[in-house]
Amino acid sequence: MNEGQLSDRLACVAAQVPVGARLADIGSDHAYLPVYLVKSGRIDFAISGEVRKGPFESAQRQIRKSGLEDKIYPRLADGLAAITAKDAIDTVVIAGMGGQLIVSILEKALENQQINGSECLILQPNLDEDQVRHFLYDHSYQITQEEIICDKHKIYEVIVAKGAEFVCYGDKELFFGPCLLSKKSDVFLKKWQHQAKQKQKVIQQLKASNGAVEEKIATLEQELKWIEEVIS
Ligand code: SAM
Repeated sequence: MNEGQLSDRLACVAAQVPVGARLADIGSDHAYLPVYLVKSGRIDFAISGEVRKGPFESAQRQIRKSGLEDKIYPRLADGLAAITAKDAIDTVVIAGMGGQLIVSILEKALENQQINGSECLILQPNLDEDQVRHFLYDHSYQITQEEIICDKHKIYEVIVAKGAEFVCYGDKELFFGPCLLSKKSDVFLKKWQHQAKQKQKVIQQLKASNGAVEEKIATLEQELKWIEEVIS
């Protein structure tokens, strides 16, 4: 992959970024996303935030190589500490990491008032998508759009959210994703058919073990029941 040709996963993230957005790409190790978005004319201002020095330097090099130093600003910082009020960021992308890490970055950002619900959040967790949705629900974010795609045999979800006055989701919607559940695309069905098999296996293994795992089994059985309802 290079900045001119994004992976299908990052292209799906890029497609959610509003035209003219002032973007913060958090965890921007190579700055491919902001470079692509600026080069394609979709945006003309971005912060490329990275917490680790090596990846930060690689983002710096990429931005310099692309001649976009006057439009994309690399910052070495933890999460949303990369942005200032002066940046007037209206769109935040956090992509390509685990759901729990995304949640911890967002929790810290809310705590430090670096975000306030007015920004468009574009999140692409590599796993634990339901935990991201629970966070959004708990903090009054409405899920406005969701995509599910297959890139090199791996399935990824992209969640777009914005703060709202009233948000109401049930556990099943948070588990599957409200928009994904209403669309039930082929990729969605493929994901959950596979997950059903995995959960059946784990339930069998837990039942054969002697540990105190009744609660875990009950949770898995409830999830399996939802999945079977949805894919049948
Ligand atoms: N966003 C890119 C993508 O989707 O292809 C890069 C994903 S890369 C696997 C995750 C990057 O996030 C790593 O470079 C890591 O150093 C960075 N990262 C992890 N925690 C971070 C944090 N708290 N603040 C900023 N960057 C972080």
